[in-house]
Amino acid sequence: DKKAVVIGAGIAGIAAAIRLAVKGYNVDVFEANSYPGGKLSEMVIEGYRFDAGPSLFTMPQYVDELFELAGKNPRDYFNYQKLEVVCKYFYPDGTRLCAYDHTERFAREITNATGEPTSTIINYLANSADIYNITNHVFLEQSLHQLKTYLQWGTFKSMLKLPQIDALRSMHNANRKFFKDKRLIQFFDRYATYNGSNPYQAPATLNVIPHLEHHYGAWFPDGGMFSITSSLVQLAKDLGVTFTFNKRVDEIVLINNQAKGVRVNGQDIPSDVVVSNMDVWFTYKKLLSKHVNLHPTGTLEQQRSSSALIFYWGIKRTFSELDLHNIFFSSDNGAEFEHVWKQGTVYHDPTVYINISSKYKSDDAPEGCENWFVMINVPSNDGQDWEQIIKEARANIQSKLSKILGVDISKLIACENILNPISIESKTSSYKGSIYGTSSNSKLAAFLRHSNKSNKVNGLYFCGGSVHPGGGIPLCLLSAKITSELVA
Ligand code: FAD
Repeated sequence: DKKAVVIGAGIAGIAAAIRLAVKGYNVDVFEANSYPGGKLSEMVIEGYRFDAGPSLFTMPQYVDELFELAGKNPRDYFNYQKLEVVCKYFYPDGTRLCAYDHTERFAREITNATGEPTSTIINYLANSADIYNITNHVFLEQSLHQLKTYLQWGTFKSMLKLPQIDALRSMHNANRKFFKDKRLIQFFDRYATYNGSNPYQAPATLNVIPHLEHHYGAWFPDGGMFSITSSLVQLAKDLGVTFTFNKRVDEIVLINNQAKGVRVNGQDIPSDVVVSNMDVWFTYKKLLSKHVNLHPTGTLEQQRSSSALIFYWGIKRTFSELDLHNIFFSSDNGAEFEHVWKQGTVYHDPTVYINISSKYKSDDAPEGCENWFVMINVPSNDGQDWEQIIKEARANIQSKLSKILGVDISKLIACENILNPISIESKTSSYKGSIYGTSSNSKLAAFLRHSNKSNKVNGLYFCGGSVHPGGGIPLCLLSAKITSELVA
């Protein structure tokens, strides 16, 4: 039997383990934490359950695909429902918007709130769909680092259409071209944060993201986001994958540029294939520290994505005006991104995202209460004074929400936990606490991301948010797919 070791039980590591097990490999997963999922984990504080990281579930078909590949019925493990209301939006000028899943209804809602013609919204989403259809095959579903990719007819056809994807303009400039109303530019600019980027720099190709949310839909897993992790771990175990928790891999063992296994607690674990789901930066700096000549220095120096500051608040009340996903926009879109990306700090009036899973899963909070996951985008860690930033952000967020919701939020908080760039790095080994690997702020970002297979070490592969095709659950699952296809 061929043996594979996977370093890390993040979502991509688990998916890669499943795919390799289906291929007939004997797979061992080593995870530094006592629990699986990495960023996609959960916590319980004083009767409130919180999903720790991701809260928006898109492209569920990539999860189902793993069960189907293994000859199982996904519904025996995992279920989810489509959201009719994707997200509620609150603007500082009092405008409120409900983003319905139904496209025409959503467009009419925007017209009613802003006066922007319904046809403009429909055209915008059609443009978003066009970008998806041109780019999906080339940029997301296969390796960009294999000649084979470029020799295919499908790739060639897509390449001919590349001028249509608006890669030379920024997202923000493309949105300005579409919309007159500032609230809508802000609305669509925010999608850059779905992969930790800056709409003022990221190529307009990223205007593909609204299509994923509004065409393929937003979903809620019945068991909460963590059930994506737990059901895939169950599937992996059913396929014979072994998980060893509380075991940090210290080194990837190489002989003559061939991966021979890993070293854990001074013990060598031999393997034919090694897949690292650890952030690629730390994979080189920690697990291949003896082999500096093999480090892809340029790739590792790319700008990191943004990070997040999250307050997990148990709230002693329910709010009928809130939904599962809620956005409270900043009063100054430009200043907000300028602070994160140019000044490395946080604007005093940031866009605040609140996720309340107890809206759909009532046992996530005690009766009459809600579990608030309150998040703002912050820069990745460059040694800022996070204690001070957290203190100011907490006060600013509370006063902003109190004003809009008309009640003193600080008095309703029963318990609190915090996640910040430093704890994101220490809990998941993500360099600088960035949550989506490298940023997409450069026009060439897609090509500069690390590949899924080492071109210098045989038998060494990579999956997860820090490598091709990038961060977020769907892309991490695709990275595992590409990785397993590259394993001979
Ligand atoms: P990670 O989750 O980064 O896990 C890597 C694992 O490897 C960890 O468990 C770590 O302990 C382990 N590990 C590292 N080094 C070692 C070692 N040496 N030995 C053993 N184990 C090791 N995505 C979405 O799709 N929707 C969202 O709404 C969304 N929101 C987000 C909000 C937040 C706050 C965060 C943090 C992320 C969010 N994301 C979202 C992004 C998404 O969570 C990530 O892209 C994805 O979960 C990353 O998965 P991964 O496979 O790269 O592994």
